[in-house]
Amino acid sequence: MIVAIDGPAGAGKSTVARGCAEALGFTYLDTGAMYRCVALARLEDPSCAASSLEIGLGERILLGGEDVTEAIREPRVTEEASRVAADPEVRAVMAERQRALLAAGDWVAEGRDIGTVIAPDAELKVFLTADPKERARRRAEQTGRPVEEVFAEQAERDARDGRRAHSPLRAADDAVELDTSGLTVAEVCDRVVAMVDERRDAEGCR
Ligand code: C5P
Repeated sequence: MIVAIDGPAGAGKSTVARGCAEALGFTYLDTGAMYRCVALARLEDPSCAASSLEIGLGERILLGGEDVTEAIREPRVTEEASRVAADPEVRAVMAERQRALLAAGDWVAEGRDIGTVIAPDAELKVFLTADPKERARRRAEQTGRPVEEVFAEQAERDARDGRRAHSPLRAADDAVELDTSGLTVAEVCDRVVAMVDERRDAEGCR
């Protein structure tokens, strides 16, 4: 079974997807971390090919065997990630790897295009949103950065992710939109897990 969790930055995708994967006993796939690895590699060597990168996903994120879990969260990498993610070649390489992973097993996959492009047949698609100010406030709290700065960068990143020609950020037609403003992570996870249970009951696979 595949649960796709898409949505803009700061909507709570990572925390919710991680929590749901744990609650369901599914594997968590952070596709944003893959784009972040490409961004980090490109910042170090602008000519490096995405296909040559060895990316290890798990508790820790590895790039060519090096632990980059913290490095890929730096603001300059965040910024660069939404640039490299607009490159069709990079997207094609990442999409192929993501589809290969999702081909077997039970997954909660988080990103921007999981429900629309990577796994259009996912059994459950959730599109998380939240008020832009609230999203910026959450990120500012996590990173200790000024909220105005985060808000401005977020608006730029949203625009870039939403208007790019390849796999722009949008909800799949059959996605359930969930506004997380004012909800706790536990409340959002409970709703998603309840939706998974409903799907399983409907398909008689329990
Ligand atoms: O989710 P996260 O903030 O880690 O993603 C970093 C960037 O990677 C996003 O701003 C977006 O541009 C890109 N991304 C994407 N498609 C995905 C996941 C992330 O374009 N499936």
